[in-house]
Amino acid sequence: MKILDFDNRFVRELPGDPEASQHVRQVHGACYSRVMPTPVAAPRLIAWSPEVARLVGFDEADVRSPEFAQVFGGNALLPGMEPYAACYGGHQFGNWAGQLGDGRAITLGETVNPRGERWELQLKGAGPTPYSRRADGRAVLRSSIREFLCSEAMHHLGIPTTRALSIVATGEAVIRDMFYDGRPKAEPGAVVCRVAPSFIRFGNFEIFTARGDQDVLEKLVDFTIARDFPEITGGAAARRADWFHAVCERTARLVAHWMRVGFVHGVMNTDNMSILGLTIDYGPYGWIDNFDPGWTPNTTDAEGRRYRFGNQPQIAQWNLLQLANALFPAFGAVEPLQDGLSRYAAIYEAESRRMLAAKLGFEELREEDDGLVETLHELMTGAEVDMTILFRELSRVDIEAPALEPLREAFYAEDKLREHEAAFAEWLGRYAARVRAEGLPSDVRRSRMNAVNPLYVLRNYLAQEAIDAAEQGDESLVFELLEVMRRPYDEQPGRERFAARRPDWARNRAGCSMLSCSS
Ligand code: AMP
Ligand code: MG
Repeated sequence: MKILDFDNRFVRELPGDPEASQHVRQVHGACYSRVMPTPVAAPRLIAWSPEVARLVGFDEADVRSPEFAQVFGGNALLPGMEPYAACYGGHQFGNWAGQLGDGRAITLGETVNPRGERWELQLKGAGPTPYSRRADGRAVLRSSIREFLCSEAMHHLGIPTTRALSIVATGEAVIRDMFYDGRPKAEPGAVVCRVAPSFIRFGNFEIFTARGDQDVLEKLVDFTIARDFPEITGGAAARRADWFHAVCERTARLVAHWMRVGFVHGVMNTDNMSILGLTIDYGPYGWIDNFDPGWTPNTTDAEGRRYRFGNQPQIAQWNLLQLANALFPAFGAVEPLQDGLSRYAAIYEAESRRMLAAKLGFEELREEDDGLVETLHELMTGAEVDMTILFRELSRVDIEAPALEPLREAFYAEDKLREHEAAFAEWLGRYAARVRAEGLPSDVRRSRMNAVNPLYVLRNYLAQEAIDAAEQGDESLVFELLEVMRRPYDEQPGRERFAARRPDWARNRAGCSMLSCSS
């Protein structure tokens, strides 16, 4: 296997835990603890992403060498790797939860590729760390497949995300009580190697403020700006202010993208919010099939539905407010923090309007379009309309003679379609008039719309089919889905089934519409 260059700034420049053991503890005054992955019985490569391999500097021969599964299953290190688990806290479901930390994630090191890009390689499911609390540090195959596929699907949709290099089966069983109903079961275990320029979360800052440790807080702030935001320069106070503004802007763009494609993160706790504005920690996430702002895939959140689809923009802002509170001691002033939060609101508003305009094929969304959008959302919710199919097919509506025909595929229930048919037709008439006023040639409009309205998304039931097959030993569907999701905006002849609406069997099936945090 190729030798990679490692430059492990996180462990080199930040204070670490002097103790080197796995035992569970509160770690004070340190950003990380050094910890080795726990070896597994029989590491075997299940899937890998060619693009991410290339990013890191591997070619196919590297990935296929037996050593690869050893390293990315947690049994061996490459020269230059310095494994550690990060210390962070977080607000979970609205409440301060104290120290959380990398309970089952272990960073192997920061590699710098020949283009000078820094990529942190992190194993998820590699065994216990000081932050494992009462859990085992492991991950099951089903959640590993979900993380792997969705990371890559998001990237190809053009949405900021952590990436995934590989899934390695461990050959060991992991015990999980999937619905916390007292029916634990042995499941196959796996380790995913995630890749990102930085895995720093809002919670990495919160923990030091919660403990009154301003010294380490300031060190972490300055480190993050220097390593992860090198474009920000200037005097100390201005740099910090610009940095918080950048975090707010990135978060706003991220959430606008999620809303554009119908992605529901499922657990937007502050420990699952990336400082780089990346989608991070794929757990009980889901994709909107029938449009419903109130929907959440996460059964653990079924009661309050805090992290429902339509609430994500507000939650991101609330999370930024927690980050602002945590940063206050380092900033010593309220204005730059307040400015950032206002900027979040402004950028989110502008970005979501821009994306919505593009989805509808308009140059821009005007105030007088708000009624049109509102009615569409009401109709889509009331008539159980598939979000992805509707927006994709909207580009095929003949605006000279608008008819419901191309949209029929998007309806889940015949009776609901009949009930809303007249209202939909009326809406289409208004929509077509608006598009005609825009005066774009229809092929231009269509290709613009198709560039923002994906044909293929990682529908919950598709991921579940790949999981069911893989658990039976057939991993081919994982590869096929990865392949389909690489070009989500392009028609792919022969792969129409991957663009179809959710089948009836998947409506209320575990893994398809209901997911818990157990992973
Ligand atoms: P999550 O909500 O999945 O992001 O996890 C919240 C916290 O629980 C994080 O600190 C995780 O590292 C930790 N955690 C989740 N699952 C496990 C596990 N199986 N073993 C150890 N820690 C875990
Ligand atoms: Mg997490």
